Amino acid sequence: MNGRGVVEKRRSVFQHPEATIPGGVYLCQVSESVSCGACCGLYNRVDAFRETLLKILSFRTREFQEIPRAADAIEVFRLRMEHLESDPGIYPDFYCCPFLGLVGKQHSRVGCLLHPLSDGNRGIDFRGLSFYGGLACREYFCPPCRSLSADRKEIVRAVCTDWYLYGLVITDDAFTNAFFSEIDRRLGRNLHLKEIQENPGAAKAMKFFFNLRQNWPFRAVRWKGPGTYFFKDATYPPIPIEYEKMGCVVSRHDALFQALGSGFKSCYALEAAESILESSFSVLTQCLYAPTSDHLSC
Ligand code: SF4
Ligand code: SF4
Repeated sequence: MNGRGVVEKRRSVFQHPEATIPGGVYLCQVSESVSCGACCGLYNRVDAFRETLLKILSFRTREFQEIPRAADAIEVFRLRMEHLESDPGIYPDFYCCPFLGLVGKQHSRVGCLLHPLSDGNRGIDFRGLSFYGGLACREYFCPPCRSLSADRKEIVRAVCTDWYLYGLVITDDAFTNAFFSEIDRRLGRNLHLKEIQENPGAAKAMKFFFNLRQNWPFRAVRWKGPGTYFFKDATYPPIPIEYEKMGCVVSRHDALFQALGSGFKSCYALEAAESILESSFSVLTQCLYAPTSDHLSC
C-alpha cells in the first residue's frame, strides 16, 4: 500500500517520527530556512549553484500551485517538468525528482511538493505518485544520517542557516567528518554543540570554512559540481590528487581536498590550497578559545 501510484488520504506530521531517525537527529527538515533535498536529485547537475537551483525550484513551485490535486494532473505535471528539465544530470542513474520545490510559509526552504503538509495538499500524501513511491520517499535516509555523530549533525544544523549550504555540507560525510576530525585533533578533544551555540565568532568561522564548498578555487577538470554522490556503491569515487605526478608529498588534508573535488597543477598550487585550509582552521580554533568574540577574526 505504500508503493508508486498510491495516494494516502491521511494527515501526517512534518517532522519524521523520532523512533525511526538514525542517530536521533533529523537532518531532512530543520527550520524555516534549512532543509535538504539532495536525495531527490537537487544537486545532480554541474551548474548546481544556488541561483540556478532557486530558479528551478521556484518555477516548479509556482507551476504546481496551479495543478489540481488529482493523480492524472500530477502525472501531467511530472511529464512536463521532466521534459523541460531533460538534462540527464551528472549522475545519470540518480533520478532528479520534479516534485522537489520550495516549502514553508515563505517558501524559504527546499522540500517535497507532494508532502501532505505542502501548500494545497490538504493533508493528503501524494508521494505515492512519484518515481520512487511513497514508502521510499518517507523512509529513505542517506548514508550521512548514519555515519555522522549526533553532535556533528547538530553543529552543522546550527551553523548552516540556508538550505543550499546545509544540503551541500550535511550530505558529504567525507568532507564533514574530515573537517570535524581535524578540529578535534587541534582541540585535543571532541568539539561540542554548546561551544558553537554560545560562540557566534566560532559559528561564523565554521560557516566560512563550509562555504569553501561553494567557492573553492582549486577544482579538478573532472569536477562534477558542488553536490556529492553520497551513495556508497563506488560508482563515482572521489577524484584522486596526483601527488606523485606533481612530485609533491601527500597532503595531510588529502581527504578534504578530495571532498572538495580538487585538482592541482603544481606543488605551488597545492601549498596555496593548504594555506587556505590551515588559516581557516586556525581562525576557527582561535575563536573557540575566545568565546566572547563575535568577530570572524576573533
Ligand atoms: S539526502 Fe539525506 S539529509 Fe538530505 S533529504 Fe535525503 S535523507 Fe535527508
Ligand atoms: S516525491 Fe519523493 S523524491 Fe520527489 S521530492 Fe518528494 S520526497 Fe523527494
